[in-house]
Amino acid sequence: MARVVVTGGAGFLGSHLADALLARGDQVVAIDNLITGDRANIEHLFGTPGFTFVEHDVSNFIWVAGEVDAVLHFASPASPTDYLEMPIQTLKVGSLGTHNTLGLAKAKEATYLIASTSEVYGDPQVHPQTEDYWGNVNPIGPRGVYDEAKRFAEAITMAYHRSHRLDTRIVRIFNTYGPRMRPDDGRVISNFVVQALKGEPLTVYGDGSQTRSFCFVDDEIRGLIALLDSGEHEPVNLGSPNEFTILELAEIVLDVTGSSSMIERHPLPTDDPTQRKPDITRARKILGWEPQVELRTGIEKTVGYFRSII
Ligand code: UDP
Repeated sequence: MARVVVTGGAGFLGSHLADALLARGDQVVAIDNLITGDRANIEHLFGTPGFTFVEHDVSNFIWVAGEVDAVLHFASPASPTDYLEMPIQTLKVGSLGTHNTLGLAKAKEATYLIASTSEVYGDPQVHPQTEDYWGNVNPIGPRGVYDEAKRFAEAITMAYHRSHRLDTRIVRIFNTYGPRMRPDDGRVISNFVVQALKGEPLTVYGDGSQTRSFCFVDDEIRGLIALLDSGEHEPVNLGSPNEFTILELAEIVLDVTGSSSMIERHPLPTDDPTQRKPDITRARKILGWEPQVELRTGIEKTVGYFRSII
């Protein structure tokens, strides 16, 4: 049994992590300032022995009383729409928030895991993306606030590992989807599913030929826990290696929902990566992990969730 601090604990991934950790007998201190997280994601955990919630912005100094065995830093706006609306908060939580959470882990002699992202590869010129690729990021573009904050987060995590001998993990999370995404999150799967269910047009940005590889949340969480339990300090990609164009995704969503929504073209956002797909050789080798849920099955589960909340 361990006592684990999860920042962003009321968010999409953070709340699923809290569930998984509690289910295996760990204690969880979830910290969230609720700017993109939602109490509804953790409501079912209030009253569960070993679960505590603290409303706090981790870009400010953090203190947690008592023993802590692991600190998992998942707090950040994570949808392009959100980080374009909250550029300064995004930069602060990725930089100051990472520094503060590292400081907590160091003080508690705890294991530290930083939620990094496929966005560190920017608009990648290497395909699929291996962990040794340094990326192609526009530092001053609108997405740079997220990408560069996460690149800084990786750099300072490695510095704490090397200088302070902190036991660290770096995960590069590729597009993940599933229940507890917000209907207004702005990411493509939640947008398409909500639009299809409401009979509104599906908003395809650009010509829809850009690709992403979508991982269902249950698979992602299993990988995250395996990484936490491993001794791996180098970055590890966790995502699905099955690549789809955005138009293919739209077709799947229409098919699963049985919706007759039209497809509507919108301008492609600035610096939108044209392709993305993880090379997961490292995760397979080190963690024995790979995703199991097919996109169609995951979309069915996600549709079930959105039907219940909208
Ligand atoms: N996208 C889209 N329609 C939407 C939302 C997103 O066509 O309503 C596209 C977006 O331009 C990108 C891809 O879907 O090419 C994935 O976008 P998302 O915001 O989910 O995440 P990203 O991978 O860009 O961070």
